[in-house]
Amino acid sequence: MKEAMDNLDEFGRKLNIVRDRAAKLQNQHGQSPSQPQPITSQALAELETALEELRVAEEEMRVQNDQLAIANIQIKAENRRYHDLFEFAPDGYLVTDCVGLIREINYAAAKLLNTSQTYLTGKPIANYIQLDQRQAFRARLNQLHHTDKLTEWEVKISPRLAATIDASLTVSIIRDNQGRPTSLRWQMRDITARKKAEETLREVQLHNLQLQENARLKSHFLAIMSHELRTPMNAIVGFSQLLLRQQNSPLAENQQNMVKRIFSNGKHLLKLIEDILQAAKIEANSLELIPQKFNLVELINEIKAEYDSLVKQKNLDFDVHLDLANLIAINDSDRLRQVLVNLLSNAIKFTDVGGVKIKAWELPLDQIAISISDTGIGVAEENTKDIFREFHQVNQTITRQHGGTGLGLAISDRLIKLMGGKIEVESKLNQGSTFTIILPRSVNQ
Ligand code: ADP
Repeated sequence: MKEAMDNLDEFGRKLNIVRDRAAKLQNQHGQSPSQPQPITSQALAELETALEELRVAEEEMRVQNDQLAIANIQIKAENRRYHDLFEFAPDGYLVTDCVGLIREINYAAAKLLNTSQTYLTGKPIANYIQLDQRQAFRARLNQLHHTDKLTEWEVKISPRLAATIDASLTVSIIRDNQGRPTSLRWQMRDITARKKAEETLREVQLHNLQLQENARLKSHFLAIMSHELRTPMNAIVGFSQLLLRQQNSPLAENQQNMVKRIFSNGKHLLKLIEDILQAAKIEANSLELIPQKFNLVELINEIKAEYDSLVKQKNLDFDVHLDLANLIAINDSDRLRQVLVNLLSNAIKFTDVGGVKIKAWELPLDQIAISISDTGIGVAEENTKDIFREFHQVNQTITRQHGGTGLGLAISDRLIKLMGGKIEVESKLNQGSTFTIILPRSVNQ
């Protein structure tokens, strides 16, 4: 730029000398008019015109030169800006020649490769690819000129004296005017964290699949086992009942006692099998409700009648308070009966003094509430959630006395959820419990 300015100044100086000489010649010519020389004077006039044109051209060149100087400053500023962007970009950027020799590398890329920018300049990028991937990397690099841009090229980078990282490369091919590749521009991004997250996700998904498969196998196994056990157990219960009832050749007292024990243990096992079977069905989502219209008050009164004698045996009060304007519900009445029976038999089982009470009333949004309360041993607050878990029994000594599988509430809770409702419990240790079912009057299927 400075050279161009100097040349322009030199040109201006020489032009001034020529102009001065031309002026002198013209003066001399004017002072000797005695010998008119028309050709000379015409040549002088033309020379002056030419000189004037040159002067104008010189002016224009100066203006252009100034503009060039400004443009030059702008280009330099732009270059600095590009360099700053390149240098301080959060991602790694490199420029290599077409065979991958590093020409320029920014700070982030050098940091990824765990060495200095000066050390890296001139080194082949392939040196930093994990050894077992290097050959494939070179082969792909040689094919790059066929494309314009390559994105998400995932490689393993071996930084200098540091552990391998996962990186994603994006390569753009720079071409000259004839379309020949001249260099490669690389973006290098550390994706180790992403890869780890993907790996963890894959493991979790696999684990989930295994869990699902285990759950399926468990349900299948339980279902088969329960079927296999149920048939012989039904026979044991049926025949022991027959033995106890038969009049023709009555059993001796000790034989009767033994058969009674076979009968009651058999019944307990049968209940356990039924519960397991049903829990497995619910877990496998294969239990379907069969909704129908029924009279809720009739259902509750039937259940009361069934349990009246048991309540009397234990000297307990038995209250039923039904406050329903509409007695009809649409639901699977057998399942609802099963839940109510479970809650009521628990209430009776865990109450020795006082009584049990069934209440039913209507709630807004066409919902029905049915509660079963007792004045029994109650459940401590910290246990009220656990009792809905399978096989969870608060006090196993008491439940062993009274029998029970620990599955009743878990099944009841799921059945009520299947009906679109919920079971709430309020209980105080040694004061009693209230289990409240809240249900839509009509179950959606
Ligand atoms: P179980 O067959 O043992 O009764 P449930 O699932 O029906 O199984 O009940 C689980 C446990 O919840 C019972 O073992 C008992 O500890 C507690 N429980 C349930 N109902 C009552 C109640 N009305 N009063 C006190 N404890 C109760």
